[in-house]
Amino acid sequence: MDFLPIFANVRGKPCLLVGGGGVATRKADVLLQAGAKLRVVAPEIADDLKSAQGVEAITARFMPEHLDGMKLVIAATNDRAVNKQVSELAQARNIPVNVVDDPELCSFIMPAILDRSPLMVAFSSGGASPVLTRMMRGKLETVIPQNYSRLAAFAERFREEVKTHVTNPAKRRIFWESVFEGVVAEKVLTGDEAGAEAMLQQMFKDEDNIQRGEVYLVGAGPGDPDLLTFRALRLMQKADVVVYDALVSKPIVEMTRRDAERIYVGKRRADHALPQEEINDLLVRLAKEGKRVLRLKGGDPFIFGRGGEEIETLAAQGIPFQVVPGITAASGVASYAGIPLTHRDYSQSCMFVTGHLKDGTMNLDWDALARPRQTVVVYMGLHGLDTLCAKLVEHGLPATTPIAIVQHGTQPTQRVITGTLQTLPDIAAREQPQAPTLIIIGGVVTLRDKLAWFHPQPQ
Ligand code: SAH
Repeated sequence: MDFLPIFANVRGKPCLLVGGGGVATRKADVLLQAGAKLRVVAPEIADDLKSAQGVEAITARFMPEHLDGMKLVIAATNDRAVNKQVSELAQARNIPVNVVDDPELCSFIMPAILDRSPLMVAFSSGGASPVLTRMMRGKLETVIPQNYSRLAAFAERFREEVKTHVTNPAKRRIFWESVFEGVVAEKVLTGDEAGAEAMLQQMFKDEDNIQRGEVYLVGAGPGDPDLLTFRALRLMQKADVVVYDALVSKPIVEMTRRDAERIYVGKRRADHALPQEEINDLLVRLAKEGKRVLRLKGGDPFIFGRGGEEIETLAAQGIPFQVVPGITAASGVASYAGIPLTHRDYSQSCMFVTGHLKDGTMNLDWDALARPRQTVVVYMGLHGLDTLCAKLVEHGLPATTPIAIVQHGTQPTQRVITGTLQTLPDIAAREQPQAPTLIIIGGVVTLRDKLAWFHPQPQ
């Protein structure tokens, strides 16, 4: 270890910044955020910096007396001679000094930071590679959600109260762990502080039963794991049990916590692995056992996903839950297939419908679907393709209207088959696309030749 990591308290303390350009301004931001009383010295000082609240700006060349009374110094000029002079004079007076990008002249270095105040993560490579350090920070940025600030502030607010309620230190540690791992934290992270507080009070009464079950209804997107949300990923790595269905791609299931129990409740057409009511009951039962249950669904849970039905049961049973949106098949698949769902030259509106056949027919508002200048996206429509095309023509769409079937959108096995309302049924019969498939109808389909960018690489 070349440097000792510490966090300095500069609140209200006089600090000197030598330099007045862009780099200096960024350093000033950090110092001011930490509450420093800042003196800035440079022959030219950027206007933003000069007028910043709490800054004493001295428009002059650096002189030794500028160091008088200073507790910390940063030199950020582009003149090495000046930087060196600042460094030497500061060190002679035992004032900690940092020279930007010049470790040799520093008595301390500044880390890259991930600010979730009051939670703060600092990164450093000891000057070896600032780029690598920043990349590391970028990685962590995705793992520690923005609203962890809120969580840390919440913990700070209740720290003393928890101490008085849970006096045994070992128990208190477990208590806090269960706060951060469980429903209370989820409530804080989703902005329901009142709910979180109520739950905390409940936990004080019921110290031994602190683990409470909850359900996360999470949209996993159309298949490419890169399209998961940060929150989905976080909950995937937290849940004790994963209840998932056929649409959730294998690589995504693999990303759930290693030791989590995985329950497949997949439904394929006409082959219901588990009826919906049983899934609802299963979620309730698992949560009542105190488990954190991840209900992982393809796309977005609230778009043809029966998410509403599942949480209705949870709500009725008083089980805490949250819903995490996902990228729905229409938007994921359309992007990867190079088909914008709206476009000023082709379509001003877009409809999502389900083409599920009931008793061999499709119960849709055909007049509304057959309007010009709109895009229609059909979920679960492959088996009704012939009916779909015929009905749209019957209700007024030209037989030449472009239409695409996208198989396994966003996945390595993605395949796009295009034609017109007249030709596609035959083409599809020949090409035999495999479920899941999405159907997109409208002029925008023709843009695909220009805009397709995703070229699947079968693995
Ligand atoms: N809740 C999901 C939709 C569930 S309905 C969502 O928001 O995407 C199931 C239908 O979604 C499938 O029949 C198919 O039409 C469509 N679908 C889901 N993922 C797909 C994918 N990767 N490629 C093509 N279609 C997909």
